[in-house]
Amino acid sequence: MGKLKTCRCCGLVIPTILIKDRLCVLCNYQLNWLQEKHQESLENFSSWWKDREKYIIIDTETTGLNEDDEIIEISILSLTGETLLDTLVKPKKEIPQFITKLTGITNEMVSKAPVFSDVLDDINRILKGKILLTFNAKFDIRMIDQSLKNYGLSFNYDIDSVKCVMLEYAQYFGEYRKIEQDFKRKSLKKAIETEGINLKQNHRSLGDCELVLELIKSIATKNLVLQEVANG
Ligand SMILES: [Zn+2]
Repeated sequence: MGKLKTCRCCGLVIPTILIKDRLCVLCNYQLNWLQEKHQESLENFSSWWKDREKYIIIDTETTGLNEDDEIIEISILSLTGETLLDTLVKPKKEIPQFITKLTGITNEMVSKAPVFSDVLDDINRILKGKILLTFNAKFDIRMIDQSLKNYGLSFNYDIDSVKCVMLEYAQYFGEYRKIEQDFKRKSLKKAIETEGINLKQNHRSLGDCELVLELIKSIATKNLVLQEVANG
């Protein structure tokens, strides 16, 4: 048996011939895979920004996280920074106090707001032909579905035209969890902080849309600068 070396990542002791850059074959493979995934997400962020007229950002505030919760505010922002929709929505149930504390939205504020079925036409008109970006796609889509169900309506959307910014950012950041076999997700607040964006989250739907826009723009433009440097 020849010389042995320790992998600096997993601690495996194996013949030197199977170690490269002080990493074992398996860890090297994983590192390459992570770099590919990072690159893939970086390219997605960049293409969203490059083709920004094709995309819109949507965000909702809700009465909570459960299966009977509803939307109390919805905003749609274009990637060019234009507010396409920004409205409070009157839910069927009461807004609990912890939500009012978090968002500042009170039952009184929504008492004269339209109900969700009234804003559906606007939403559908704005979404037409656009690809939808939301920070937590699964959550926002579920909340739209739940809010509509109250009025016997349903949301017609093509799942391929919805992109989850949170999952993309998790892959971009690249903290892979072996047990969960998934990238660690970050909150919008954490993502903004990590990217050094100097904005505060106000937990209102338009404010959150603006944060998502800044996140996309920040990652994409950093990448474009790097590309220019690389191309001389
Ligand atoms: Zn290793």
